[in-house]
Amino acid sequence: MKNEQAGLYIHIPFCLSKCGYCSFYSIESVNLIPEFVSALKEEIKNYSNIFSLFDTIYFGGGTPSLLTPRQLAEILEAVNKYYKIDKNSEITLEANPGDISLQYLKELRGIGINRLNIGIQSFDDKILRFLGRRHSVKEAVAAIEAARQAGFNNMGIDLIYGVHGLGIKSWENTLQKAVSFAPEHISSYQLSLDIKTPLYKKYSSANWHLPDEKTELKLFLTTSEELESTGYIHYEVSNFARLDKFKSRHNQKYWRHVPYLGLGPAAHSLLNNKRWRNKALVKTYIKEIASGKMPVEGSEILSNEQLQLEAMFLGLRTKTGIDLKRYKTKYNIDLFAEKKTIIDALIKNKLVELKNGFLRPTRAGMAVADSLALI
Ligand code: SF4
Repeated sequence: MKNEQAGLYIHIPFCLSKCGYCSFYSIESVNLIPEFVSALKEEIKNYSNIFSLFDTIYFGGGTPSLLTPRQLAEILEAVNKYYKIDKNSEITLEANPGDISLQYLKELRGIGINRLNIGIQSFDDKILRFLGRRHSVKEAVAAIEAARQAGFNNMGIDLIYGVHGLGIKSWENTLQKAVSFAPEHISSYQLSLDIKTPLYKKYSSANWHLPDEKTELKLFLTTSEELESTGYIHYEVSNFARLDKFKSRHNQKYWRHVPYLGLGPAAHSLLNNKRWRNKALVKTYIKEIASGKMPVEGSEILSNEQLQLEAMFLGLRTKTGIDLKRYKTKYNIDLFAEKKTIIDALIKNKLVELKNGFLRPTRAGMAVADSLALI
């Protein structure tokens, strides 16, 4: 059965250089981009008997802004050829400030990209160097200004907090600077270090530490309070939108178990209770598609219990929270009745609240959202 209103994620697995903290899959060699684009166009075709309609498309990575507007247009043409794309679709591209000129951005608008997410990370050059970012603050500011000039009126910026030596004051300055550009969306991520990343090794060898729990909490609450005081809606643990209409429609699909198709190396997909993922290596991906295979590495069928636990985990990370009636219909569980004692205790401790049939985290609850889901 074909599916309705799904999201399409396209993974562009190339970066000019690896950031010190990054554990996403990408390669630094860009000479495979043309072959990759051809393979991707084949993969797009492969799912046309399973998915039919998308109303969000998200180019993530990696660094999608390493593709030329022509290459991106070819990908979108292939998507349009095999699927119906809602005329009000949200079409996002993640961009590195080091790549984007005004001309480039105008061309992106011309091919239908209507949402830009810029990886700013910090408004402090020292921090950018420390993180291994290849752009400067000057380039970040120029990218934001060029995006506005090119007509992007739905722009998000990503920031990182919790960097060693970055105190609350410095973080507040970064937030204020971010707000001064009035982006429609801000994602604020806490630095976390995978053991395999170069920055992890740097931290270990210099005996540096990520912030302790108390400082982490303070940074989180400061971010939430400061941004909400300037009118942003803190709608998910790491995400803020200026208005409801600027919440990432694509990412909300992940949090609500709405089906999504992930194309490109290492991309994940979900349809009903089946989740699958592609092989990560770019060369393998290209080779398998060229020989007529699906580059799928593995899949799993999620049980009702897995789905309901995930829905609880994801729901408690959002300001909307869990719609208890929908939850009961979908997973056949009366969450409130089953967990009444714990939920009452959480309400008493002001970590969650019950409003209009929704169980939702308070700001303090969002700060510990992952442990709330263990109820
Ligand atoms: S640009 Fe993004 S995907 Fe590439 S290395 Fe840096 S953080 Fe990772």
